[in-house]
Amino acid sequence: MLSERARNITPSATTSLTAIVQDLKAQGVPVIGLNVGEPDFDTPAHIVAAANKALAEGKTKYAKDSGIQPLREAISKKLKNDNGLNYTADQIVVTTGAKQAVYEALQVLVDKGDEVIIPTPCWVSYTEMVKLADGVPVFVKTQPGTFQLDVAAIEAALTEKTKALILTSPNNPTGAVYTEEALRALGKLAVEHDFYVISDEVYEKLLYNGKKHMSIATLSPEVYEHTITINGFSKAYSMTGWRLGYLAAPLEIAKAAGRLQGHMTSNATTFVQWAAISALEGPQEDLEIMRKEFDRRRIWLQDALSKIPGISCAGADGAFYLMPNVSAYYGKTAPDGSVIRDSGDFCNYILKTAHVAIVPGKAFESPEEVRISYSNSMENIQEAVRRIAEALTKLK
Ligand code: PMP
Ligand code: GLU
Repeated sequence: MLSERARNITPSATTSLTAIVQDLKAQGVPVIGLNVGEPDFDTPAHIVAAANKALAEGKTKYAKDSGIQPLREAISKKLKNDNGLNYTADQIVVTTGAKQAVYEALQVLVDKGDEVIIPTPCWVSYTEMVKLADGVPVFVKTQPGTFQLDVAAIEAALTEKTKALILTSPNNPTGAVYTEEALRALGKLAVEHDFYVISDEVYEKLLYNGKKHMSIATLSPEVYEHTITINGFSKAYSMTGWRLGYLAAPLEIAKAAGRLQGHMTSNATTFVQWAAISALEGPQEDLEIMRKEFDRRRIWLQDALSKIPGISCAGADGAFYLMPNVSAYYGKTAPDGSVIRDSGDFCNYILKTAHVAIVPGKAFESPEEVRISYSNSMENIQEAVRRIAEALTKLK
């Protein structure tokens, strides 16, 4: 019999859908994947070259659990220069993806029964990670129409047991970028009520409409003491498969995360860490090319989705996702007689009929919506929207 913990894990809707799409494509079904949570760009060539060099130089052995010193120093410099954050190298733990950093932050902070506030819609893995730490996820809705933080609702959800809040700006799945005013109000709450903010900043480089990224830990020394800052290489440098991220935190927390990692995975892949220095310190032009292309697709897609009858689509200032509301289609009947009851049925219908993969909002605690990623070519996005619109005309 599996442990209760193992039995309670819900599979990741995002990664399992990626597997389904790969299988369908292998069978020859012309699926357009707008489900993916990774940039459709190659890793910049100088980073690949740095990895090859590291391999050739034999950087293939175990390293310090918390990461190689030159990378931790490069991250320390990056956090200072890009974000105005003061973290020394020993306050940084290099992890196997930002995913592991979020996991470790929760493991070292949360005791059985502690509550962790998660603003919704939220990324699929947070809920399960809180449960794996024996914590209790407490969902607080963001504001309808804008997906902005509802700080008053967060305040109302605080209890004696609140240990942390997971903050994701720019947001997956909504693309929302939280206002400075909301971050200030949240920081104030964290200090007054003594809970931690786990600030997942993996989409910080993908900003549009002139938005600027703000790291909540810069707000004051008190907020800094209550924050774990998390970032990674997957989104900014198209390095999803390399699996590299990091957390930066007050020393006690960083040391605890390092100790935990020492028994889980030890160091993140050594030669990947050497290549990551090149990502941070090398040319950044590829990033801007990617950001501009995402911006172009975002503008087109939001407009095109909003023109489909029954669909309303909030704007987004970051990441590479839009979250249109499709609930007007719930209760309608497909040509085969099946009824679209919820976001899962909606996405299944679109996959089956239009051969377009999108993710049900219910996986993100957001049942009225679906998540559409514009991490695919403009040509494919346009064809996908045409197919979706056509499939929807068949629902009665
Ligand atoms: N946080 C968010 C909000 C994400 O969307 C992702 C993407 N999987 C991650 C963390 C994890 O990223 P990584 O590939 O660095 O583990
Ligand atoms: N973060 C991406 C997504 O939301 C990648 C898949 C995952 O790790 O969940 O689709």
